[in-house]
Amino acid sequence: MMLRQLSLKYNIFTSIALTKSESNSVGTLANTSYALKDNIVTRDAPTTCSSRILTNYVSPFESTVSRLLAEEGSHLVGKTNMDEFGMGNSCLNSHFGPTLNPLYEQKSDIVDLKEKEFWTRGEKITEDLTFENPHTDTYLHRNYLVSELKSDYKVDPEMRIVGGSSGGSAAAVAADLVDYAVGTDTGGSVRLPSCYTSIFGFKPSYGRISRWGLIPYAQSLDTIGIMSKDIKLVRRVFGVLDKYDSSDPTSVSQENRIYDDNLNSKIKIGIPAEMSLGNLEDDVKEKWRKMLKQLQKSPKFELFLISLPSLSKSLPAYYTLVTSEASSNLARYDGIRYGYRTGEYTSVEPEFAKTRSEGFGVEVKRRIILGSYSLSSYGYKSHFMNATNVRSKLIQEFNRVFKEPHMLNKNHNPDGIDFILCPTATSLPPLVSQYQKVTPVESYMNDILTVPFSLAGLPAINIPLGRSVGFQVAGQLGHDYKVLKFAQMID
Ligand code: GLN
Repeated sequence: MMLRQLSLKYNIFTSIALTKSESNSVGTLANTSYALKDNIVTRDAPTTCSSRILTNYVSPFESTVSRLLAEEGSHLVGKTNMDEFGMGNSCLNSHFGPTLNPLYEQKSDIVDLKEKEFWTRGEKITEDLTFENPHTDTYLHRNYLVSELKSDYKVDPEMRIVGGSSGGSAAAVAADLVDYAVGTDTGGSVRLPSCYTSIFGFKPSYGRISRWGLIPYAQSLDTIGIMSKDIKLVRRVFGVLDKYDSSDPTSVSQENRIYDDNLNSKIKIGIPAEMSLGNLEDDVKEKWRKMLKQLQKSPKFELFLISLPSLSKSLPAYYTLVTSEASSNLARYDGIRYGYRTGEYTSVEPEFAKTRSEGFGVEVKRRIILGSYSLSSYGYKSHFMNATNVRSKLIQEFNRVFKEPHMLNKNHNPDGIDFILCPTATSLPPLVSQYQKVTPVESYMNDILTVPFSLAGLPAINIPLGRSVGFQVAGQLGHDYKVLKFAQMID
């Protein structure tokens, strides 16, 4: 099937380049093609974050990642759909309609998206359904065909979700439309959709890949990651993007970057007791057990059960911190400087309030409210400060188990483990119809195995293990090349 047909079938791209970039025959990534998540800016195509509030927004500057990839000869095929502003783990929270999982064929009757009130997961919030979709047709922007939710877009509720928020990027790779994709991972958004689509998804250490040009969700956690079916290509792309960038104030300085990828002859692997078998769905449990048995048999590996007591508190801590940062970040969308602006307003409902209530989706609004509470004088101590303390404790606990020194504070345990291993998701990707029924808090539970590494900024990769099952390898902060080498070794 053609790129555009597949893209439409699964709703993968928000815009597609019509011509090939000129420089694709030179450079270390010559003749490779890639997809870029639509929260990373490029000068030639719109960058929407899959939000109504940024429809038609075109950045006046180029992101560092897209610049570096172009310089090395990689061809940008298009920008990919996502959960609005990166908020979600399903790719159903997009203004442009959901991206679906290309590993599953559509089979049952197709139903109309609007009839099912897809956006609201069963909650009747009609304001999001009544507005006219501004994109009723594809249009051309420079050499990009910008696609949008067609009014007759159909969703099969028996399809499985692709995972999010980098769902479009994962789908583009899984459907073989590109060699690799660039996504972003704040709490699991590269690893979870990679797991659900059976591809590699690497989230580097915090600060390792420049975020210049990434529209922020929560800056203390945001990272840019790489997804591909080919682990060697992930490593090559990381080699290109792994550069200090003075435009990003959180970019790791050159002297702190670690390139060593030597692995010990006997590799110590830690299995966190808190991420144990209890909560895993049968299919995942069986594959996970099988893999542990295989590793146990090999003379190259030694397995240890480790304890990280703060893991159990990481999900609420993550959601407190991430919503706080998001609520502050999203204040910039006032409809005055750029992006969508409401047509009519009264003095009772000021222009910026109406712009936001029309421009943001339900999940984004929910997070603004949650975050504003955590930062208020009522919630600051009990919520925000508590979450910050959990995060600090968790980092200390990681430092106590890892053998390699932490990139910045150099803390470590000389007798510790080399890597942590755990599943990426507790279950197979749910059906769209199942996911629509869960409450927001229940849906947040899908992030339980990915957020701890994000809170500590650790490098972590999803390794596929059969259809829609994957496991994560995480290493100490800064030891990205070791994580990649180990992933290659056990693949
Ligand atoms: N699902 C998580 C959230 O909604 C993580 C998203 C991400 O990594 N961008 O916050």
